[in-house]
Amino acid sequence: MSADAFGPDYHLQHPLFKNALQLIEESGSLVNVDKNVLERLKRPKRCLVVSVPVRMDDYSVKVFTGYRVQYNSTLGPYKGGVRYHQDVSLGEVVGLSALMMLKNSVLGLPYGGGKGGITVDPTKLSRTEKQNMTRRYTSELGTSIGPQIDIPAPDVGTDAQTMAWMMDTYSQERGYTCPGVVTGKPIEIGGTVGRTGATGLGVVYIAERTYQRLGKTMTGSTIAIQGFGNVGAHAAQYAYERGAKIVAVSDVTGGIFNGDGLHIPQLQQWLKDHKTIAGFPNSQKITNEELLLLSVDSLFPCALDGVINEKNVDQVKAKIIIEGANGPLTNEASQVLHKKGVVIVPDVIANGGGVVVSYFEWVQDIMSYFWDEEEINKRLSSILYKAFDTSFALAKEKNVDMRKAAIACAVQRLEKAMLLRGLYPR
Ligand code: GLU
Repeated sequence: MSADAFGPDYHLQHPLFKNALQLIEESGSLVNVDKNVLERLKRPKRCLVVSVPVRMDDYSVKVFTGYRVQYNSTLGPYKGGVRYHQDVSLGEVVGLSALMMLKNSVLGLPYGGGKGGITVDPTKLSRTEKQNMTRRYTSELGTSIGPQIDIPAPDVGTDAQTMAWMMDTYSQERGYTCPGVVTGKPIEIGGTVGRTGATGLGVVYIAERTYQRLGKTMTGSTIAIQGFGNVGAHAAQYAYERGAKIVAVSDVTGGIFNGDGLHIPQLQQWLKDHKTIAGFPNSQKITNEELLLLSVDSLFPCALDGVINEKNVDQVKAKIIIEGANGPLTNEASQVLHKKGVVIVPDVIANGGGVVVSYFEWVQDIMSYFWDEEEINKRLSSILYKAFDTSFALAKEKNVDMRKAAIACAVQRLEKAMLLRGLYPR
């Protein structure tokens, strides 16, 4: 590794962040965003790195590294998930936090962007070890998080239980219960109805809108979904209920395929009983890579980033791609497919359902007054459709792909707010 790899800006070299920077730059110039604003948008405001010592079940102590990057707070408190994964690094979290800033902005939410994570394979931890790690991580973040400061939520490898522990730790240390410090909590302790399935439902709302705009219908169309976790499994269920044919899904162990469509409710039951989708009756085993290259009407990549890249992009055959995950296509791959006429709805809109319902949860916590699911879903679709329609129209007007258009909308909103607030001290 070259000496440069350890230079002062090493954390700004991650490919995910470089992707985000390129987007900010290109989209910003598309709509003539102020040069000074663009410069400010290209740097994270604050990066926290914390050591997280954890008592393991065998009484030994392991020290994990945790992160929280507070990218930008022009539009409101920092907001974004916490990821537990063995590949988490400061650079990755910087990239993801920049994406959260853009997502919150294009969705019109009163939030800045943030993201957190711990470098750990959570599947290797017992429940107690996970709880100990989560509590110590929360404690180390200390006063850097809070309902008006920075509001974490679930992401890859974390869930409602993780948020319950974070909320409890934060509250214990303050001496009173603060539900608004995190979102994605269980309903019993200030969570909202509809949050668990929100990202998957958002993916399907956006897919339906895309079909509609292209003069097509989702009913009877073929869909392949990469990832059968919280996002993919819910998206599969909602798309199935709308009469789509889910021909393939996958998890970390690989994929399954049935050209006539998989029976998703039976698959959910199979997953509950067997802890994996592998071996599901009437399905053929395929690899995760094969799933991405299937000849389908649409593809929902709902797992990790960078899965469609220069190596496989030429073999992708789907006509519509809805980015359920954060950053599943590299910028280059996205450009290649756009030129071929593939419609790609970018992550900042397509998987925005999660943070939109997080916003509803936070609002309800602050009011201590809770809405029903019908109210939540109505408000969710209205926010997602608005972001989709604005970006779709700008993409047409400027003859660019939807990703560039969506980021341009996000950067424009940030520009207006930044210019109004001015630069402190001057
Ligand atoms: N982790 C989700 C995302 O990447 C949700 C974030 C949130 O609800 O704050 O959008």
